[in-house]
Amino acid sequence: MVSNRFLRSLANLPATAVAATSVLIAGGKCGYSPGHGLFVCEGSPLAQQGGTTVGDVFLTNEISKDEVLDGTANSEALLSHETRHAAQWAGHGNLLYPILYGVEALKSTVLTGSYGCANWFEFDAGMQEGRYSSC
Ligand SMILES: [Zn+2]
Repeated sequence: MVSNRFLRSLANLPATAVAATSVLIAGGKCGYSPGHGLFVCEGSPLAQQGGTTVGDVFLTNEISKDEVLDGTANSEALLSHETRHAAQWAGHGNLLYPILYGVEALKSTVLTGSYGCANWFEFDAGMQEGRYSSC
């Protein structure tokens, strides 16, 4: 039987490859969260704000991959949030998802001044888990 995680990883493979390549070129480092099926990497120029999930890769920005993976950043909820973004990538596709996310981010920025506060994808992934405490 094929697992949902396997199907997600297969669907996200192009975006995962782009994210991994960005880390490789920048000389960053990665680890893996087996509980979430998510690579956690630092050093990518694609990482924005607190971090960005591209395919099955969470690109950290303000905290290190080690702090995320060993839990010192109290990161279990954050990893769940980013895993939900990985599922959103798989559900919408590697070309459509970034466009739809960008539209939501733009709408949210116009309405609230924050790319995340009125962003459906952030709401769906969990605002509290994504650390949108100022919304
Ligand atoms: Zn998020």
